[in-house]
Amino acid sequence: KLSKRLERVSTYIPGGAILADIGSDHAYLPCYAIKEELASQAIAGEVVEGPYQSAITQVKESGLEERIAVRKGNGLEVLSPGEASAITICGMGGSLITRILDEGKEKLSGQERLILQPNIGAQFIRTWLMDEGWQLTGEEILEEDGKIYEILVAEKGEPHQPYAGLNEEAAILMGPYLLKGQNEVFKKKWNQELTHWRRIIKQVEESGNERSLEKKEELTRLIEIVEEALER
Ligand code: SAM
Repeated sequence: KLSKRLERVSTYIPGGAILADIGSDHAYLPCYAIKEELASQAIAGEVVEGPYQSAITQVKESGLEERIAVRKGNGLEVLSPGEASAITICGMGGSLITRILDEGKEKLSGQERLILQPNIGAQFIRTWLMDEGWQLTGEEILEEDGKIYEILVAEKGEPHQPYAGLNEEAAILMGPYLLKGQNEVFKKKWNQELTHWRRIIKQVEESGNERSLEKKEELTRLIEIVEEALER
């Protein structure tokens, strides 16, 4: 059975898509997308031998070799330019997802939908999207097995203005749509972060380490931004 996390990701795949799932591991997402007819064709990309073999096995066992191509390679290098109409990159840190997008820029035609699911560090992705002229068209936050995940969806040239009227730093950190919605999971995530940051500040104070002072100031600033943005 597919995780709730990947099931939610799959809902953003545009109909009839040619899906590229980068860092696919067992290729669960492309197998599901094809079986459920969310995509017509799929590519599962993997850079590591073990997960690449797992993907091949899973695709074979599902009898989907005709529809899913499993390719070994780093990030978007497994794609030809504009080949995919939807690209999913899930279950990694936001900085790794950002690096994969940035290093693979020439493979993006601007016609595809990006569906990105960072476990942490979503702000790096939001900054990259903004700098590269991608519009954030939707966001979702969910909890599964005690872990909180975010999903970011982006397209080129959409007339959305998700950051309008928001403190840009807060919106990049927390997500403009998520910030406007502020559901229970969102509140839980940021209250956990606040607790975590306050604990670090306390440790820094107790250690009296000069070098940590900068860290304390940065965290104090972040706490202010997040407290200000959270609805009570
Ligand atoms: N996407 C699946 C999911 O969300 O359940 C698997 C997530 S798994 C934690 C991350 C996978 O990404 C690993 O199998 C890893 O080998 C792969 N990976 C990491 N960096 C990659 C890169 N630059 N190119 C392709 N795959 C990569």
